[in-house]
Formats: sequence, C-alpha cells, structure tokens
Amino acid sequence: MKIGVLALQGSFREHVTMLKKCNVEPVEVRKPEDLDNIYGLIIPGGESTAIGKLMRESDLDREIIRKYELGMPIYGTCAGAILLAKDVVGEKQPNLGLMNISIKRNEYGRQVDSFETNLNISGFEKPFKCIFIRAPVINSFYNGAKIMAEFKNKPVMMQQDNILISTFHPELTDDIRIHKHFIDMIKKGAE
Ligand code: GLN
Repeated sequence: MKIGVLALQGSFREHVTMLKKCNVEPVEVRKPEDLDNIYGLIIPGGESTAIGKLMRESDLDREIIRKYELGMPIYGTCAGAILLAKDVVGEKQPNLGLMNISIKRNEYGRQVDSFETNLNISGFEKPFKCIFIRAPVINSFYNGAKIMAEFKNKPVMMQQDNILISTFHPELTDDIRIHKHFIDMIKKGAE
C-alpha cells in the first residue's frame, strides 16, 4: 500500500522511515500528480507558513482537499496539524481548513518551547513518548473532532473522521503505534 508524505519542507524523511518500518510504501509528494496513487497522506512538522506557501504555489492545496473529499485520510503532525485547522488564531496563512479546531502557533512559550512527556492515548495499551517542538495549542474544537490524548487539559492528539492530528512528533521516536493507527484508518476506509 502506498502512503504519501508531503515533502515540501520539514520532517518528511522521518515519516518516510516510519512508514517503511510499518511495511508500507512511502511516496514523497511534491506536486499534485504525486497524489494520484496513494491511499493516505501525512503532512509533517516544520514551518506551517513555509509549507502552506509552497502548497499553494504548486496547487497542491486544492488537490489535497479534492482527494480528501473523495475519501483520502490525512495525518498532520505539528505544523501539519496547523495546516489542517479551520482556524489558526491571529494568522492569515494559507491552509487546508479541514479539521474543526482552532489552533494557536508556538503557544508553549520560550522557556519550554521543546519538551517531551509520556502521555496516554485512547486505544493504546501503554503511554507514548510525545515530543513537542515549538508546538501549537488546540484552543477549541467542535463537530466531530474527538480527543485521543491531552496534556494540561488541552488536546494534543485528535481524530475527526478521516483526519488525524497530533501536535507532537511520533516520527522522532522509534514507536510506530500512531503510524500503525493511521494505516488502520486507511484500511478501514478501503474495506
Ligand atoms: N512552530 C511551527 C509552526 O508554527 C510548528 C513546529 C513544528 O512543526 N515542530 O509552524
């Protein structure tokens, strides 16, 4: 099974490695045609402003939305979660606007702008090491966005139908459980 990783900027190589560990075939997505034969798409962490701009310039944003509407699941990590949000507080950056959340960039503040912590994730037996790097905070959510994990009373992992987001970076660990969960979402949709 082919799964795409948006490869415009950010931690896409690490997601490619994770997908290989999960025994699926990663496809680096740089132009709209690259979306043709994939069953799901990962949007990596990085700089959401840079990724958003490049996505718009290459027309990938429109094609990603079109494929999503045809049933393609999407998983966004950190900047990827920002790019999927309906509302990015105080910003006018290009994004996909598919996930019913309001998110604020770089909200953990300078002192703790990067940290890691073990969190419980719904449906997972053991805690997951969550690595946050200049992460955004999800301030509010509505219509079908469900919490899968939270930190200090704010969601850090959520799912809404075919969209999964985390404000942390599982691709920087050796733990493939979240990528496996995303692959399961894709398989369920394909049944
Ligand atoms: N701070 C970045 C942004 O606002 C996100 C950081 C990340 O993806 N690790 O886009």
